[in-house]
Amino acid sequence: MAAFPSLVMNNGLEIPQLGFGVFLVPPEETQQAVTEALKAGYRLIDTAQGYQNEEGVGAAIAETDVSRDELFITTKLTNSEHGYDNALAAFEGSMKKLNLDVIDLFLIHWPLPMFDRYVETWRAFERLLADGRVRSIGVSNFEISHLERLFAETDVKPTVNQIELHPEFPQEELRAFHEEHGILTESWGPLGQGKGLLENPSIVEIAQRKGRTPAQVVLRWHVQLGCVVIPKSVNPDRIRENIEVFDFELDDTDMAEIAGVRTGQRLGADPNVFAMR
Ligand code: NAD
Repeated sequence: MAAFPSLVMNNGLEIPQLGFGVFLVPPEETQQAVTEALKAGYRLIDTAQGYQNEEGVGAAIAETDVSRDELFITTKLTNSEHGYDNALAAFEGSMKKLNLDVIDLFLIHWPLPMFDRYVETWRAFERLLADGRVRSIGVSNFEISHLERLFAETDVKPTVNQIELHPEFPQEELRAFHEEHGILTESWGPLGQGKGLLENPSIVEIAQRKGRTPAQVVLRWHVQLGCVVIPKSVNPDRIRENIEVFDFELDDTDMAEIAGVRTGQRLGADPNVFAMR
């Protein structure tokens, strides 16, 4: 089994550097997929209220032999539940579905700046942290301006910001800002969501040279950038393939070649305008 390094967050706690994402995993397949991932050695599971599969994650946790202390469970507040009281109530809903008393990381899924409620929501997150219901709090899809507002108006710094990040959209500026402020970058859509990145000739060529798969090359790139990365697959072979990335290295030439894959185009929504509730 691959050895999993961890990164240390700004609250002193550790987060596994690679985890299992369950976006678009159908609810009825989630328990099975998470069970496969736990068997393969994953310890971080990334779900969200909006994925509607927290129950499947909870069922897999309830059945596994892996002790709760070794697991790192993340969920995210759904967009419709911004605001202090809403966020607290929605959190309790997640805990019931996950069948847990405490989770490791709770994220604001999207900032929705046009509704101007994320600061109030963050105060609810601070309360959950103070009450010991969550071990760490963080955000997702926050841009620099949103983070700066949290710094100015609230007390606790996010531990992580989970953002769209892959070789086509490498987020240099936001990553540098995170580093400056002690926030870990967590990459979503790390494999380019099955939309062509893994067929890119440069990625394929590096993979052939290394005797690795394109997915492993891309995941290794995330690891070497210092990101936490949460690939998704429901295929047991790929689930295993995606964690075998800690026994090889990309050299400077490989990293430079991957930098050339950049298009600057997002695959997902722009957080400044994304307004889905
Ligand atoms: P991803 O980049 O992980 O791509 C997943 C797809 O890649 C799979 O469906 C499959 O088609 C393909 N794939 C996986 N492993 C492969 C392999 N070894 N070889 C070939 N193809 C392979 O995309 P994602 O699921 O969108 O992102 C990963 C996780 O990030 C999600 O599951 C979720 O937990 C999180 N996420 C968060 C947000 C957010 O707004 N915070 C948004 C999207 C995803």
